[in-house]
Amino acid sequence: MNAAPLLPGATLGVMGGGQLGRMFVHAAQSLGYATAVLDPDTTSPAGLVAHHHVQAAYEDAAGLARLADVADAVTTEFENVPAGALRTLAARRPVAPAADAVAICQDRRAEKAHFERAGVPCAPYAVIDSPAALGAVDASLLPGILKTATLGYDGKGQARVADRNELAAAWERLGGVVCVLEKRLALQVELSLIVARGADGCMVSFPPQQNLHRDGILAVTQVPAPEVAPAWAADADRCARAIAESMAYVGVLCVEFFIVDDGAGGARLVANEMAPRPHNSGHYTIDACDQSQFDLQVRCLAGLPLVEPRLHSPAVMLNLLGDLWFSSAGGPPRTPPWAEVLSLPGAHLHLYGKTEARPGRKMGHLTFTAATPQAAREAALVACDLLGLTRF
Ligand code: ATP
Ligand code: MG
Repeated sequence: MNAAPLLPGATLGVMGGGQLGRMFVHAAQSLGYATAVLDPDTTSPAGLVAHHHVQAAYEDAAGLARLADVADAVTTEFENVPAGALRTLAARRPVAPAADAVAICQDRRAEKAHFERAGVPCAPYAVIDSPAALGAVDASLLPGILKTATLGYDGKGQARVADRNELAAAWERLGGVVCVLEKRLALQVELSLIVARGADGCMVSFPPQQNLHRDGILAVTQVPAPEVAPAWAADADRCARAIAESMAYVGVLCVEFFIVDDGAGGARLVANEMAPRPHNSGHYTIDACDQSQFDLQVRCLAGLPLVEPRLHSPAVMLNLLGDLWFSSAGGPPRTPPWAEVLSLPGAHLHLYGKTEARPGRKMGHLTFTAATPQAAREAALVACDLLGLTRF
């Protein structure tokens, strides 16, 4: 990274044109930067709002060259950007996070090895990369969750398995690709913690947020995390910082954690996975913090100073999936009742400009801020009723 910061007026680029890229573009533009997005889709959420849209495949050499022509520095909005593409860009422009860090986050084996290196516990696991490895699985890992080592998201590429027979069948169904088998843990709470680390090593972080998943997809995020005691919050913060520090990470990093039963009447904290970018569970920071996770991504990329972000309002975020655009599963399309939702106190509606709603597709999110956690929760519960979402 350059020692001198890139000041407003420069152009910041992002690999990927999804909603995370769009919110990065918004944050960069509000600071006065021009923006460039590389994404193959003509109507990508970020491409629609950026100054420059390089419409190309992620590994297209000409497309990468055009991005490097217009952008003074480049970040990424999803972890499956080919590391080679980031290395190509890095030969011409500062890139953060670096290809090596992104590569660790792309592969659950490398990710878990990195957690161990950083001294952060994760779920007991085994790598399944051959029939022999399958046969040698320790009985203590069952029942477990089989996860493809690469390319999984929103619960895709995963299977819950109770015994060896189910494990063998699931591995075959997943195509016999390299997987990790994790012991299925008794989760008490799911939380995540977002840190930002500058090229100078300075680190700042948000308080942990508590997450509720439904069908493998994030549904609700609450801050302050109602069931995370201060000691756990401090522990998660220490772990996330150790993970970032030990790979000399530059950028915004989100680490997902579980608080699990330790089998002896107590509890322990384990890391689940990490994302080398802003995270869905941090979208509330746009409305509830004095600096959002996207503001910090801009600062990291531009080499601007990082200052500790402050949560100024308790918040509840609801994810808005494409299912809401249909009156029933397989039923006719509808427009969700936005006017009613926006009549609720502290409602902040964010829609990503996606042209087509599909079940399970992330279309937007809705954050409620309030003076107290109870008030934010009450408004969010009314919104759930209006939208037909299950209460939390
Ligand atoms: P993401 O959309 O966050 O990238 P993903 O598809 O990569 O999700 P994970 O985060 O690994 O998947 O798992 C999805 C969910 O499954 C977790 O949030 C948690 O609810 C549950 N889960 C995952 N691993 C375990 C485990 N070892 N024990 C119990 N539950 C688990
Ligand atoms: Mg996850």
